[in-house]
Amino acid sequence: MDNFDLHNHSTASDGLLTPSQLMELGARLGVDALALTDHDTIEGLEEAAAAAKRVGIGFVTGVEISVTWGETTLHVVGLGIDPDSAPLRQGLQSVRDGRWGRAQLMADKLTALGIPGTLEAALELAGSENRLSRTHFARHLADRGAVRDTQAAFDKYLAKGKNAFVAHQWATLEDAVGWIVAAGGIPVLAHPGRYGLKPLARATLLESFKSLGGEAIEVVTGSHRPEEYATWRRVAEEYGFMASRGADYHGPGESPVEPGRLPPLPATLTPVWTRWAH
Ligand code: AMP
Ligand code: MN
Ligand code: MN
Ligand code: MN
Repeated sequence: MDNFDLHNHSTASDGLLTPSQLMELGARLGVDALALTDHDTIEGLEEAAAAAKRVGIGFVTGVEISVTWGETTLHVVGLGIDPDSAPLRQGLQSVRDGRWGRAQLMADKLTALGIPGTLEAALELAGSENRLSRTHFARHLADRGAVRDTQAAFDKYLAKGKNAFVAHQWATLEDAVGWIVAAGGIPVLAHPGRYGLKPLARATLLESFKSLGGEAIEVVTGSHRPEEYATWRRVAEEYGFMASRGADYHGPGESPVEPGRLPPLPATLTPVWTRWAH
């Protein structure tokens, strides 16, 4: 099997490595091709493409779009997108624009919990207002010793249902899929095992994703436990989705899996990269 890893982050969103450093790491780890899939931005793609060429690995353009579906936040990855697509660029801009206001509300909640000054510190880590994510808050909370590590920051404050969580309206599923399709890309439902959906809601989501133009789901991902792979293999077979594989890598020490260091996709599935790799 080709070693394709189609879900990775850089400093353009909440990753720790620059796009170039990520491609260099991919080359060291022997991947055949990497996709850069930053949250709601394609800002890192140009640098990543040049770096991939330099280090001699394949590159797939990508993005991971934040979506609000009912009460649930979903992530939809777009692969093989045209970075010059105007509808995609405008759509992503509108999603990013919501991040600053949400970050202010999150910081207010942390202040009320006795942890002041997080907005400025998280902004410093993120480097720009519309890039600010919970990950930057988590890193700051760990840095200042308010929690043991970033995971503990989510578990204690930032995850849904915790005291500093701020509900937010991201893109609609229809818009996210539409922007990806308009940019000539393949819409992939990211880490479907992460959403905690009950069987009926799960079926409804998979059907509407498919009917809107969704074509693939992540099956082997750093965000699934290995024992979940078989569940999502069966779902891909049942619904006729292609399958994707990606570490969801965020940086050294922060991710369970390094780029390309995942098991291969189950042989019964059609890898999403057959669309453009051969
Ligand atoms: P945001 O888009 O600002 O809500 O941040 C979402 C990012 O936070 C995800 O892409 C993950 O990198 C990280 N994240 C979300 N939930 C958790 C969690 N429970 N534990 C660790 N990291 C998480
Ligand atoms: Mn992330
Ligand atoms: Mn995600
Ligand atoms: Mn991700």
